[in-house]
Amino acid sequence: MPFPSDTKPDTVVFDLIDAEVQRQCTGLQLIASENFTSPAVMRAVGSALTNKYAEGYPGKRYYGGNLIVDEIEALAIERVKQLFGADHANVQPHSGANANMCAYQAILQPGDTVLGLSLDHGGHLTHGSPVNVSGKLYHFVAYQVTPGDERIDMDQVRDLALQHRPKLIVAGTTSYPRRIDPAAFKAIADEVGALFLFDAAHIAGLIAGGEHPNPVPYADIVTFTTHKTLRGPRGGCILSTAALATAIDKAVFPGWQGGPLEHVIAGKAVAFREALQPEFKDYAAQIVKNASALAEALVPRASAWSAVAPTST
Ligand SMILES: *Cc1c(COP(=O)(O)O)cnc(C)c1O
Repeated sequence: MPFPSDTKPDTVVFDLIDAEVQRQCTGLQLIASENFTSPAVMRAVGSALTNKYAEGYPGKRYYGGNLIVDEIEALAIERVKQLFGADHANVQPHSGANANMCAYQAILQPGDTVLGLSLDHGGHLTHGSPVNVSGKLYHFVAYQVTPGDERIDMDQVRDLALQHRPKLIVAGTTSYPRRIDPAAFKAIADEVGALFLFDAAHIAGLIAGGEHPNPVPYADIVTFTTHKTLRGPRGGCILSTAALATAIDKAVFPGWQGGPLEHVIAGKAVAFREALQPEFKDYAAQIVKNASALAEALVPRASAWSAVAPTST
């Protein structure tokens, strides 16, 4: 039996999609959290895998018919473990926000104390903002950047860690154009007996391409989005130590999500393979070069502006 849109094509939606492709191809797109995926990634995401229910994990599904899907998800897991040198990977989180909530659920109880970067200093909503469920479920204490050079204040991180004895320290940013030192965070976490989560949402592609220190050897958990610098489909991913593998998997399903998006997971597998190619290093290096060139051109204007603007705190 034909589908209704076979005989009555949905020109409204597809005209709008064509218009959006035009928009993306013609204007200058400078949104740091966006990227352009490859046709191969889009082909995977637009595939028949969207038809499949696959609650569970490869080899342990609650539905039949997952022989092929199991291979795809196992491939995505193997590739991302290889890409970042991780012991365990869960490729099912639907987004970066979900990845963080799943990670918290794996290791925290409601009310537990967590350190995270303040949203208005470059952190993310899921790092304890009061308007996000993370800030309602857990007791987040915010650290900040220094007023002088606007870099993460590691002295303050340590002071707050000693004062509040958090169960978890979260590093990672959504608006911060500097390298983050995972070893320094790990040293503080060890000093106070906290777990350490690194949210690499923005910089996953820079890490994969060798342009940013890899947090995996230091962090108990690394979360990231697959659609920012990693240039894959819209989605999330969690890496962890072997010790936390079971807790992470249980937190994602059945803890937080239902059926995984296997079409998106196939897109992630394609993107991870792309990021494993030697050319991806050139791509990551070029991102940093372009961003530096843009910053060099903008900084003189910013200082001219700040000379007349009221000083902020
Ligand atoms: C973008 C981002 C997220 C959330 O990703 P979504 O896929 O939009 O949910 C989480 N953490 C950080 C640091 C981010 O930059």
